[in-house]
Amino acid sequence: MVITQQHTGFIGLGANLGEPVTSIRSALDQIALIEGVELIRSSSLYDSVPMGPSEQPNYINAVCKIKATLSGLDLLHALQRIENEHGRIRQGEHWGPRTLDLDLLILGTQSYSTTELTLPHYGMRGREFVLVPLFELQPDLLMHDSQPIAKWVAECDVSQLRRIHPK
Ligand code: ATP
Ligand code: CA
Ligand code: CA
Repeated sequence: MVITQQHTGFIGLGANLGEPVTSIRSALDQIALIEGVELIRSSSLYDSVPMGPSEQPNYINAVCKIKATLSGLDLLHALQRIENEHGRIRQGEHWGPRTLDLDLLILGTQSYSTTELTLPHYGMRGREFVLVPLFELQPDLLMHDSQPIAKWVAECDVSQLRRIHPK
């Protein structure tokens, strides 16, 4: 009997061009279709002010929880294909507007520190639009510095983050 190891993971989704709510929902549908990935559940959608260049529309953000048998790198490549299918254009500007951004936040205990893939994702700390939906999905999560996620959330400015009902 072959036992393939499953890793629990979390993906951060963001969009602020085109039809962001539609893009996030269809990205979730496509994540569920990746071979070797099971979509467990997704957070509410959130409206957030942009990080970095401020002359751009607000973002819609969400996080989803998955179980995956893929490596982090294979999963990253699958996510990049979904970004491209949603018309993601890679411009020079960091944190500029985009139709879809899929960040692999955590994948089990997998750890990468290359330019192509950093795992756990380097940018979770201080990002309320990542941590609040992640907390909604997994309030007992321990972050990689062994702190409870509630502590990371408490350090964020959540004053401009708005949960959108319904999902
Ligand atoms: P940030 O990474 O700060 O959230 P961003 O999402 O705007 O910024 P991108 O332009 O989408 O950055 O990605 C830049 C590169 O980051 C990608 O080419 C990808 O290879 C790399 N990368 C490294 N680690 C990850 C990860 N955990 N998830 C997604 N991309 C990653
Ligand atoms: Ca990002
Ligand atoms: Ca990204």
